[in-house]
Order: sequence, then structure tokens, then C-alpha cells
Amino acid sequence: MAAATTSSSLLGSSRIGSRLNISGLHSDSLNPTSISFSSNLSALSLKSSGSKGQLYSRGKGSVVITQSMDRVEVDISLSPRVNSVKPSKTVAITDQATALVQAGVPVIRLAAGEPDFDTPAPIAEAGKNAIREGHTRYTPNAGTMELRLAICHKLKEENGLLYTPDQIVVSNGAKQSIVQAVLAVCSPGDEVLIPAPYWVSYPEMARMADATPVILPTSISEDFLLDPKLLESKLSEKSRLLILCSPSNPTGSVYPRKLLEEIAEIVARHPRLLVISDEIYEHIIYAPATHTSFASLPGMWDRTLTVNGFSKAFAMTGWRLGYIAGPKHFVSACNKLQSQFTSGASSISQKAAVAALGLGYAGGEAVAKMVKAFRERRDFLVRSFGEIDGVKISEPRGAFYLFIDLSSYYGVVVDGFGTISNSESLCRYLLDRAQVALVPG
Ligand code: PMP
Repeated sequence: MAAATTSSSLLGSSRIGSRLNISGLHSDSLNPTSISFSSNLSALSLKSSGSKGQLYSRGKGSVVITQSMDRVEVDISLSPRVNSVKPSKTVAITDQATALVQAGVPVIRLAAGEPDFDTPAPIAEAGKNAIREGHTRYTPNAGTMELRLAICHKLKEENGLLYTPDQIVVSNGAKQSIVQAVLAVCSPGDEVLIPAPYWVSYPEMARMADATPVILPTSISEDFLLDPKLLESKLSEKSRLLILCSPSNPTGSVYPRKLLEEIAEIVARHPRLLVISDEIYEHIIYAPATHTSFASLPGMWDRTLTVNGFSKAFAMTGWRLGYIAGPKHFVSACNKLQSQFTSGASSISQKAAVAALGLGYAGGEAVAKMVKAFRERRDFLVRSFGEIDGVKISEPRGAFYLFIDLSSYYGVVVDGFGTISNSESLCRYLLDRAQVALVPG
């Protein structure tokens, strides 16, 4: 068979200590036909290719080739792509807090964007059943048809958006959905417009695509909402992508429909400009605020990539499941990238996600219960911070973050700590002296 012939050819040109898994011998130049023998072969009649090559088998399906071990210097340089990307501050402070907890310090961890609730029981049960029932194999790259149909139904009923399953790609989290979309549509030199304060990953994703992040500042007095005039002034031929996030991480702002309509009018005048609408906090919203999907606005469906996921509203961060919906041309490009990055998302998580979407409108009672708790916490924090001098806040209308302006404390010198000069040193101070972990912004 081709695989056996190929194996013997490779043995002839062995490398030091290489370990070949013969299920992966797919080199076209050596092997005109490649087969996977991960399925039952009993129905096949195997004929020898005539090659006399030998496999030195160690363990199932692997070949070990040994040769004398020459020592070589390893080039440890990294791609400029890695150097252009900043590490996540959220991850850095969360790791620091975790290390302190492991050392026995009772840290109050308010850094990572993660519900402290367990995944609702019917969803978890569906995951367990998926394993029991043998849904443990690769799914289609874009996600199971069952899940994509459920997503289409959700988008129609809850968001007024019409999509077919070939306009949906399910990924290992909304983060993957977004980075694939950025990589799929941006060319080097393109600009990605990001209202600030922003989720820390957006600019880094733009940099990974060799695009340039263009930050659009907003102000606390305007509830951190983008001024359409500022957007208009920054748009040019280079503008390829606008990333909107409502409800917002980290500000909790919710874009009112009217403001989104004004933004849409500006976007409509720029044929090159696409929009990623990150709606992952859609269900975590505090009435009277309401959610509007950007793609539902006149003329916006054709140029909007709607991103959503299960991590936040359904308390499923560890299940790693998100999705993108958009015109087939763009979504197919995301699908193509995913087919070479990771393939389809977890089969078990996809079954659980179907159960999540089956909980009812906006996640039903299970999600409503968590949102009620988030609302009570928000109210407590807004009230409590309101009583502290020098603290400015904009009341979050959604998500579960509070973006606090503590700049009146900058310049303060603390005995044995030093000067609190910016949000980073303030966060270090709070972790050090009060054992509270927050993310600098
Ligand atoms: N978008 C925003 C705004 C987020 O805050 C997060 C998670 N922090 C994500 C996307 C990604 O979520 P996940 O990959 O867990 O689906």
C-alpha cells in the first residue's frame, strides 16, 4: 500500500530521533495516494506494493528511527508577528492572583471575565449524554448541522437576522471566531477601527493580521459610546473593519438603536468597510436597556459579521464554543482558515450548545437567574463606589464589568509601596495591599 511504500522511503532518509506516526505520512512527492487507516479495514483487500522496506515499530502505529545524536545550536528567534503582539494584561493579573491564592492568600478575584456560576444542569447533562451516546468524533468543520440550524433559529427569533447554515461557522470560542474573521478580511496595511475602552484582544488581533489598529476614544461622560462624528473623521480608503461590542467589555455600555443607526449611515458610505459586531454579552443586559444586532439595520447585513458565543450568558467558558454569522463569501473564508487551524469545535460542546439554545428565549429561566444576580452585584458596586470620593463611574447597562475612573488617586505616594502613577500601579497596589485583583485599563 502507499503508506507502507512511503514509510520505507522515509526510513532511508532518516532524521535524528524523529518519531513518525505512520497515520500522518502524507507527503505528496513521496506518496501519490494517501490513506487513513483509522477506520476498520476488514472490508479491504490489501496488496503489497512490492517494496521491501522495513518498519521498526515501537508502540501502535509509530516508527522510531535512531542515529547518532549530533548537538546543534537552536535558533530561538521568534516571528516578528509574536513580537508585535502584546501579552494579555487580564491573563497576567489573573495568573498573579492565582499564584497568590495557591500560596494561601485569600485574593478576591475580579479580573477574568468569567461567570462564577456552574453551567446550567440541562446543558451539562447534554454534554454528558453526548459522550455516553458516542458523539465523540470530528464534526463538520463549520459545526454540526443540528447546531447551525439551532443558531439560525436563534438569530431569526431573537435578533431578526436571517441566515442559512452555510452562513454560520462554529468555533472554539468567540475569540477564535473574531481572530479568524480579522485574518480573513484584512490585508497588510488595512486599518481596524476600535472604539476605546476595548476588549484587550481586538488590537492584537489586528496586529496579527498585519493591519493597523486605529483607536477611537470615547468618554465616561458619554457612557463610553462612540461619537459617530469621530468615526467619520477617521475613515479612509484604508479602513477595512470596525469592531463594535455591545454590551461592551469592559465598560458595560449598551449601544442604543438610534446611535447604531447613525453609525450604520456612516458605514454605508464606505464600500470597503466591514463591521464585526461582537454580541457575546447580548443576554446579559439590564432593562430598560435593549440589544440591537447591527446586521439587522438597513443595509448592514451584507457587510456585518455577527459574533456570539456560549461562554458568558450560559456560563460555559470552559466548553469553548462561539460562532460567526455573515454573508457566505466571508464566512466561507473563516471556515477555510479554521479548517487549517483547528478543524471543527468539540463535538461534546456542540451537543451542549444545542441544549443551551433549547432553554428558551434569551436562555430562559436559567440565564435570567444569573442575569438577576449580575444586576444585584452591579447595583451594589455602583452604589458603593458612588460613596467613595474621587471615583467616577458610568453605570453599566449590560455585561458584568465596571470600568472605574480612579485617576484622581494617581500621584499618591504610599508608604512601603511607592507612587501610584497609573492604573497598572494602582492594580498592583490593590492586589498587594487589599488582595483584590482588577485589570488595569
Ligand atoms: N468578546 C468579548 C468582548 C469577550 O469579553 C470575550 C471573552 N472575554 C470574548 C469575545 C471571547 O469569548 P470566548 O472565546 O470565551 O467565547
